[in-house]
Amino acid sequence: MNREETLVTNFQKIESALLSACQRSGRDPKEITLLAVTKYAKDQDVLTLLQKGLIRHVGESRVQQAQARWERPEFAQFNTTKHFIGHLQKNKAAKAAQLFDFIDSLDSLETALALEKSIPQGKTLRTLVQVKLTDKETQSGLPLQEARKLVSQLKPLQRLYVCGYMAIAPQGATDTELRQLFRPIKQAFDEDFKAQPEKYLSLGMSADFETAVEEGSSLPRIGSKLFAENLEGL
Ligand SMILES: *Cc1c(COP(=O)(O)O)cnc(C)c1O
Repeated sequence: MNREETLVTNFQKIESALLSACQRSGRDPKEITLLAVTKYAKDQDVLTLLQKGLIRHVGESRVQQAQARWERPEFAQFNTTKHFIGHLQKNKAAKAAQLFDFIDSLDSLETALALEKSIPQGKTLRTLVQVKLTDKETQSGLPLQEARKLVSQLKPLQRLYVCGYMAIAPQGATDTELRQLFRPIKQAFDEDFKAQPEKYLSLGMSADFETAVEEGSSLPRIGSKLFAENLEGL
C-alpha cells in the first residue's frame, strides 16, 4: 500500500468503527463529528486527507505550530474548522482567538476573559470546558463540579460561546473504568446544555473512542489511528 492508500484505509476503518459503536448504542451516526488530531501529522498526510475531502475538523495543541501550518495558502484554501486542544496559556489567548474556531480545552475564567476580549468583531469562538479525570498534576482541566461552575460563569459572555465538555481519559483504563469516568460528564452535559441547540461532548481518542461514542461522545478526537503507518489490530 502506498501512503495515500494507507491513510484512506485508516480513515475507513475509523469510520466503520464509529458506525459500529453507533449501532451498538442506538445512536445516529450523524450526531458524531470526527475531530482529526493533526498535531503530530506530517503536512503531506494532512493535505492528502483534506484533498480527498475526508476531514473537516482538525485539532492542534500548539498555537505557534498551528499558525505556521494553517496560515499557509496550501492549507488555508481548505474550509476547515480548527480546534485548539492543548493547554492554552493566557499570553497566547489573543492569537488563539484569531486562529481557531473552537477552544476545546478551556479551564479557567481568566483565560476565558482574555479570549473574550480578543475575539474579532463578528466572530463566535466556540469553547468546551475541559474536565480533569485523573489526579495527575500534569493533566489540565477542572474537576467536574468546578467545570460546571465555569460553564455557568461563561454563559453570559457574548463572543465566546460555551457549548460542551471535553475530557482526556487516563491511559490504560479498562472499558469499565472508562464508562465510569465518562458517565458523570455525559449526565452533567445533558443537564447543563439541555436548552442549547448547538453542543458537543468531546470524549475519546485513538485508544478509547469506541467506548466514548457508546457513552455519548459527539466529537471524538483521533490522531495516531488516523495517521499511523500500520493499523493491524484496529
Ligand atoms: C494528542 C491528543 C489527541 C489525539 O490522541 P491519539 O491518541 O493520538 O488519538 C486527542 N486529544 C487531545 C487533547 C490530544 O492532545
